[in-house]
Amino acid sequence: MRVLVLSDIHGNYDALQAVLKDAGEVDETWCLGDLVGYGPEPNLCVERVRDIPNLTCLLGNHDVAALGRMPLSAFNGDARRSLEYQIRALYADNVDFLKSLPETTQVHGEATLAHGSPRDPVWEYIINSLTARLNFEHFDTPFCFVGHTHLQSIFRLNEKDDRITLGAPVVDEPLPMVPRTIFNPGSVGQPRDRDPRAAYAIYDTEAHIWQARRVEYDVAAVQARIRELKLPERHAVRLAEGW
Ligand code: ZN
Repeated sequence: MRVLVLSDIHGNYDALQAVLKDAGEVDETWCLGDLVGYGPEPNLCVERVRDIPNLTCLLGNHDVAALGRMPLSAFNGDARRSLEYQIRALYADNVDFLKSLPETTQVHGEATLAHGSPRDPVWEYIINSLTARLNFEHFDTPFCFVGHTHLQSIFRLNEKDDRITLGAPVVDEPLPMVPRTIFNPGSVGQPRDRDPRAAYAIYDTEAHIWQARRVEYDVAAVQARIRELKLPERHAVRLAEGW
């Protein structure tokens, strides 16, 4: 089975469209959350994701905030301003779709899925080997897929010496998957590794291959839309620079 693994779309419809086109035909799509927040097109993104066949989709922290389930004061000023816009803009049926998404981890075959981490699915960032180490006790499957950091990354537990190896996948290079590894496909709509291209991954469930991928999209068009809506300028600038 060929699975598209994507996360952190963040209202960036042009990036989402580019990813879906670049991924080609897939058997399933696993979306790790944060459909909204930051970007200008929360409705288009939710509607496009809803239409994907054989979809598994989790709730991210920005989605939780857009549903009013937490105080916006937990977010910094710019993130809060764009969330306020999303709360105003989201159509009722798109809100209903977000409400239907699970905040918990999901297990599919050999993989556990979470937005942030298996230990704290919505909020925790697996950003270093210590947080990765603590999370291996919270899932039993050979693999775990998370988003939330907006960085394409790999954390592998070496069970012989109980140590973590941290790595960044080489884009487009098929990577054989070794059991007890946490993979992050990166962010579709707001990459933060200084590469502005939209990030995602393809998971081959039979060959056990992970392929990190990047695709260009029209960043200038999304920036223009952010400015037109008077959303924070910072969110336009960062798209061109990938942070
Ligand atoms: Zn995010």
